[in-house]
Amino acid sequence: MPESLIPVTLLTGFLGSGKTTLLNHLVRQPELADALVIINEFGEVGLDHLLMSRLPDDSVVEMSSGCLCCTIRGDLVSTLKDAHWRFSRAGERRFDRVVIETTGLADPAPIVQTLMTVGVITRRYRFDGVVTTIDLTNADRTLDTQPEALKQAAMADCLLLTKADLAEPTAVKALEQRLLAINPSACRLQVHNGVVAPRTLLELGLYDPATKIPDVARWLGEEALLGVSGDHDAHDSAHDQEHGGHHAHAHDLNRHDDHISAFCLVLDEPLDESLLDTWLDLQRSLSGKDMLRIKGILNLRGRERPVVIHGVQHIQHPPVELPAWPSEDRRSKLVFITRDIPRETLAQSLDAFLDSWQR
Ligand SMILES: [Zn+2]
Repeated sequence: MPESLIPVTLLTGFLGSGKTTLLNHLVRQPELADALVIINEFGEVGLDHLLMSRLPDDSVVEMSSGCLCCTIRGDLVSTLKDAHWRFSRAGERRFDRVVIETTGLADPAPIVQTLMTVGVITRRYRFDGVVTTIDLTNADRTLDTQPEALKQAAMADCLLLTKADLAEPTAVKALEQRLLAINPSACRLQVHNGVVAPRTLLELGLYDPATKIPDVARWLGEEALLGVSGDHDAHDSAHDQEHGGHHAHAHDLNRHDDHISAFCLVLDEPLDESLLDTWLDLQRSLSGKDMLRIKGILNLRGRERPVVIHGVQHIQHPPVELPAWPSEDRRSKLVFITRDIPRETLAQSLDAFLDSWQR
């Protein structure tokens, strides 16, 4: 059962964006009393000693022999695999969640891929979400010059904006607009001195922690991408106007083009499973590196229940069939966060593909 799997949160953020301050606050909160914290501080400033001595038999693992996203992904696999006995007491696992802090320069995609696809991990853990800290005093320049930082922002489920007190209010506003254009569906909030309620950045995955049932709308970020309910075309145009406004505004203010698009394709008719798989495979092989995230709920022909998909770049988590539809709305919804692939390109490609095969 998915709820019996241990949630894993990935904490990213560029150098100096306040990850360690945040983590220092988090590990003192009751919600994280039993968390296993994995830090990868390769080439960065030393970690706060208070954090390291948080527990007598510490549950902080430092992985500093290389970078988690490129050189020591295998070490991450063995650390998570061994954690069950390594961090146990009287044979009982002692932690109920994992937080992984990456280095500032890390690309979150390969780490998420590892968490979603390596069998020894997926048998016990579930990837919960990406949390990214953004330093409001520096982020504009960082996003302009560091592709990893842009990717960290684009792939986030939750954006934590730090150092607002040190930034110009107009700059903060412009940056918030820029982030809204890059990643409209991520939650976005300002944090001061790392102080944040843990519940806002834990349990970002598909399952509602209280009810244990899937909360698909929240997970897909439907509200931001489509509007909450009703006719999607009407909402789409309202959304386009509203967010087109945001985009234009942000671009006017900053003259940025981050090349990132976030959008949702809605399909009214049930889909042929193998056709859709083929199309997704094709997109992944043509432009996988630019498909930063794909999430979706699918109405597949011949299936009573909805199927949820989740992918990062070239790889996809095995599809999960939900026990029931979350609402009356039985349309398929595919959410994409892409780089240099506009909505129209994918929408037309999918339409043409389905048409040509279904005719
Ligand atoms: Zn790396």
